[in-house]
Amino acid sequence: MADEMRCTVCGFKYYSEDGLEREGIAPGTAWEDIPKDFKCPLCGAGKNLFR
Ligand SMILES: [Zn+2]
Repeated sequence: MADEMRCTVCGFKYYSEDGLEREGIAPGTAWEDIPKDFKCPLCGAGKNLFR
């Protein structure tokens, strides 16, 4: 299942199929497998602020 999570602060979207390679997150990484200390690459919001 492809996750799409959106930062509620700035609107940045994380797509699990793409990952975030510049943050060290490989393509295909599910949202629940991302470290708890993940921060939005645009605004720095914590993982708990994504929906
Ligand atoms: Zn953000």
